[in-house]
Amino acid sequence: MGKCIYCGRPAGFLRRYHKECKEKHDRGVEEIKEKVKDFFENGGEGEKLYDDVKSIAKNSYIKEEELKKILIEGWRNSVELAFDDGVLTEEEEKRLKEMVKFLHIDTPEVLNSNAYSYLEKGAVLRSLLEGKLPENLPSKAGLPFNFLKSETLLWVFDNVEYYEKVTRKSYAGGYSGFSIRIARGLYWRVGGFKGNPVVKTELQKIDEGIMAVTTKHIYFAGSRKIFRIRLDRIVAFEPYSDGIGIQRDAKTANPQYFITGDGWFTYNLVRNATNVV
Ligand SMILES: [Zn+2]
Repeated sequence: MGKCIYCGRPAGFLRRYHKECKEKHDRGVEEIKEKVKDFFENGGEGEKLYDDVKSIAKNSYIKEEELKKILIEGWRNSVELAFDDGVLTEEEEKRLKEMVKFLHIDTPEVLNSNAYSYLEKGAVLRSLLEGKLPENLPSKAGLPFNFLKSETLLWVFDNVEYYEKVTRKSYAGGYSGFSIRIARGLYWRVGGFKGNPVVKTELQKIDEGIMAVTTKHIYFAGSRKIFRIRLDRIVAFEPYSDGIGIQRDAKTANPQYFITGDGWFTYNLVRNATNVV
């Protein structure tokens, strides 16, 4: 006779668990997630939070390994919540970073995750939207670009794919997709970037390399091409889930596409990079 995977007592013929045990376990999972969410929204004592979730886990047949997974998922949901309502506030950023410590999930898996990098990205965008320079700026060391003294490096993207739209025919039909006029202080929410990747079929891949964004330019360096584009010469930006498309104001310029893997951040960054006063 099999033993219940939750309580360890005999579960009955061909059964893996008692129905009541599974229900108790699943309720515990929900309760823990609820606790994490409530802490994110309302704050509280970090130590108490961890004690609480541990005791729920203990009473719900949730083992340490599983608890960790639930806490990471709960924290990730809180990051999503923070970005759902717009710009990441300073308070949200601080609390989400604290939660990683309080919940004992400050592991490389979490600290190097996309969700954690969103906190850094969110802080950069918040500063730019306020017209201020971000606090943590990347180093210029080792980059192949000749930056101007009057510009500040804001972000460096690695492994960026660079594409151009080469068929003049498709361009003659006008600018497809949604392009937007430049305006100060514009922010697009994460939700707007779900789906909708750059369709590469009509594009030509030109190069792959590093892309740097400063308060004045986009810089790109690959194995074949190295160039910079003045941000104030860009007349249209196209937001995609995985990158951006831009159109310069020169008549001969073809649309250019930079696939960074994170269209939301790239788009908001280049749209607001010139805000700094
Ligand atoms: Zn059981």
